[in-house]
Amino acid sequence: MDAPARSPLDPDLGRVRVRGAREHNLKSVDLDIPRDALVAFTGISGSGKSSLAFGTIYAESQRRYFESVAPYARRLMSQVGSPDVDSIEGLPPAVALPQQRSGGSARSTVGSATTIANVLRMLYSRVGTYPEGAPMLLAEDFSMNTVQGACPTCHGLGRVHDVPEALMVPDDSLTIREGALAAWPTAWHGKQLRDSLISLGYDIDIPWRDVPREQQEWVLFTDESPQVPVFTDREPAEVRKAVAEGVEPRYMSTFQGVRSFVLNTFAGSKSARMRERAASFMVSVRCPECGGRRLKPEALAVMFEGRDIVELAAMPLDDVAAVLRAVLEPDWTPRGTSGTAAPEQLLAARRLVTDVLARLSPIIDLGLGSLSLDRATSTLSSGELQRMRLATQVLSQLFGVVFVLDEPSAGLHPADTESLLRILTTLRDTGNTVYFVEHSLDVIRQADWIVDIGPGAGTEGGAVLYSGELEGLRDASDSVTRRYLFDAPDVELERVARTRRPGDDRVELIDVSRHNVRDLTVAFPLGALTAVTGVSGSGKSTLVVQALPELLQASLAAEVDEHASGTDERPAAPEDPLSQGTVSVTIGRARGPKERLRRIVQVSQRPIGRTSRSNVATYTGLFDRVRALFAATPEARGRRYSASRFSFNVAAGRCPTCKGEGTMEVELLFLPTVHAPCTTCGGSRYNPETLEIELDGKSIADVLAMSVSDARAWFTDVEVHRHLDALIDVGLGYVALGQPAPQLSGGEAQRVKLASELRRGQRGDTLYLLDEPTSGLHAADADRLLAHLHHLVDGGSTVIMVEHDMRIVAEADWVVDLGPGSGDAGGTVVAEGTPEQVASDGASRTAPYLAAALQ
Ligand code: ADP
Ligand code: ADP
Ligand code: ZN
Ligand code: ZN
Repeated sequence: MDAPARSPLDPDLGRVRVRGAREHNLKSVDLDIPRDALVAFTGISGSGKSSLAFGTIYAESQRRYFESVAPYARRLMSQVGSPDVDSIEGLPPAVALPQQRSGGSARSTVGSATTIANVLRMLYSRVGTYPEGAPMLLAEDFSMNTVQGACPTCHGLGRVHDVPEALMVPDDSLTIREGALAAWPTAWHGKQLRDSLISLGYDIDIPWRDVPREQQEWVLFTDESPQVPVFTDREPAEVRKAVAEGVEPRYMSTFQGVRSFVLNTFAGSKSARMRERAASFMVSVRCPECGGRRLKPEALAVMFEGRDIVELAAMPLDDVAAVLRAVLEPDWTPRGTSGTAAPEQLLAARRLVTDVLARLSPIIDLGLGSLSLDRATSTLSSGELQRMRLATQVLSQLFGVVFVLDEPSAGLHPADTESLLRILTTLRDTGNTVYFVEHSLDVIRQADWIVDIGPGAGTEGGAVLYSGELEGLRDASDSVTRRYLFDAPDVELERVARTRRPGDDRVELIDVSRHNVRDLTVAFPLGALTAVTGVSGSGKSTLVVQALPELLQASLAAEVDEHASGTDERPAAPEDPLSQGTVSVTIGRARGPKERLRRIVQVSQRPIGRTSRSNVATYTGLFDRVRALFAATPEARGRRYSASRFSFNVAAGRCPTCKGEGTMEVELLFLPTVHAPCTTCGGSRYNPETLEIELDGKSIADVLAMSVSDARAWFTDVEVHRHLDALIDVGLGYVALGQPAPQLSGGEAQRVKLASELRRGQRGDTLYLLDEPTSGLHAADADRLLAHLHHLVDGGSTVIMVEHDMRIVAEADWVVDLGPGSGDAGGTVVAEGTPEQVASDGASRTAPYLAAALQ
């Protein structure tokens, strides 16, 4: 990488001057940080990095922005609160790219989020190859999310609901009167429909299978809804006579065929029970018109380089780029057309293709080349999503802006971090400032300037230990970061020298196929700690997070305990019980000792919950104990307040205005909705009577506001201590007990789940599957977490984890390295063995980085 063009120490460069920053734990920080530079904020978890970078610098920029665009926002800001800082000078407008804290919109895809999809539609519209005589379509005609483009049969959903005959009539030996038409309504409405059939001349007393076929078809499938005279409680013969004689009927009723009845009920009934019953007679099938491709046939008929737009959007971005690059070759002519294209068409094609390639390049550079344009952003990891947004920012060609990033290296293999640094450098060199919270030592070393916060977490932190260029950090004696950056690893790190465990048995996965993994056979040692490595997109999550638990469950009847109860991330529309999404299945089988694989605990980075009603205390079960302690105080007993009174989910104790949310949504014209503290309870979530109860001088709201570490010092209850110690052990001492779950990053969510698991103690026969457990952790915190994982293995359990930090990989017993590349160029085992064996493997892209960590 090139050296920075100029020294950030250059006094001519601007400075951001922060004075008296006291947000959260910050100790009235005064700080001058360069502009137009890459500045890394470092320090252990909870030291105050985010409070400074996001909570102070970004928040202040945001506040000024709101004030400038909307004068009425002044009042609002006084509700939302401004950062606690005396002054900040020299602050440019800021753009924050935090780790994603909650899922994106279900319809958003890589193509739409990066706007590449728009250009691609233009490309198909203008220079696609149309069938003979077909009119030219507009760009909107190529989008399944527009009325013009969507397949008219399935409205762009790709699936249609069908009501198969076998479900409508499960038993054709019954007569209509006996209920042959099972899908028809029961009770009164069903009787009315049967009575209409009599008036219409049907025989409802012969077995259904004896009803003539054309009659059967009309009853089942007609879309007509005739008005039919209904004579109740008369013999069929009498009814027929009455109809023939034109006798005044009891009333007229609307007839509905069985299928229309089911479909209309499903689509329109207000009763959830009715909709559910209707759904039980339906199946969801691929749309016969578009074959599940969701576009109208005219649009699917337009080709570019031999592919329709849906095919192109399903290809890995690497391959899309290869297809498009060919278009820029001098002798290119559009495929599928006879002769040569008109010069103006060639020109348009090349211009649009150049545009798409320019947009693709930073995305591919950031290790995302294995994604496809049609991939839902809700299925991306938080690291992938942040990098995708970063790549989009580079393209927006903003300048004079501060980008504030949260651990941009999350989820990146060391081989990919070089391209990350290239992107960050590009942003800087085009006139921007990049501030980032970071833990990866390799990335920190490349920053122009380092702000190290500490020395400890929470009240033990919050001070700037060092601010300057890398070398100067050597002399910051209080800094934990310094030890990791400059000291030989084994001198100070208090690492236990361990012998690699060989494992006492193994679990094998045989002929596994899923995503880019094809016919893979691989074994993992049991009673050992295995790290699965490989560049981004090589197949690590596919193997560890998806294939492993599924195959163990299917082949060995293992019980998988997903520590993310109730938060299925699959983008299935909840109101549609038939929609299964497009979940691909894992092919293959597993072999291993059943008795050692009974319990599998999968601890993922999935969010804990989407509502702010779930928080660290409620999730871990700690809150139950705390509420019991409050209910046991003499004052609470005197007032007969039970433990449930202290739950903000129960009406008796909570604030009636916000119903225990603590916040109210404030709608802002043209601006994103903000959450402001509830004006009644001030954010405490409780009503005044509940808050009157104190435990050693603190209300239940005071307790929820405490950090885990502070609570550990304050509580004396042994059971509360056990919960808190587990949280501290996974590096979460800094989070507040009441921190709402949606505000936790993926890494934090995973560690909360891990803490609950650690607290449950040793069962000795558990297989833990972890997804980059050290993401978001300072090296010192990562070491502590690693010690815990080793402890689990010492107790007889097995740990298999996806991991990028080579310091941690070097401490594993076994390494499985996937690759060699990403997407179709990955999905195989490149090297496996002890860290030493993998480090000396010439084919592995992980090897040189692992070798360096083993030194
Ligand atoms: P870091 O980014 O270094 O991990 P943070 O800035 O997130 O640390 O946290 C620093 C301190 O501020 C911690 O003690 C934490 O509990 C506290 N803190 C963070 N966010 C909040 C919040 N929203 N409300 C109250 N305290 C907070
Ligand atoms: P890693 O964990 O090593 O970064 P993944 O297992 O996430 O890699 O991805 C491996 C390959 O599978 C990539 O080509 C990726 O695009 C593809 N893939 C992953 N998840 C999905 C999905 N939900 N749908 C389609 N393809 C996917
Ligand atoms: Zn369709
Ligand atoms: Zn309230």
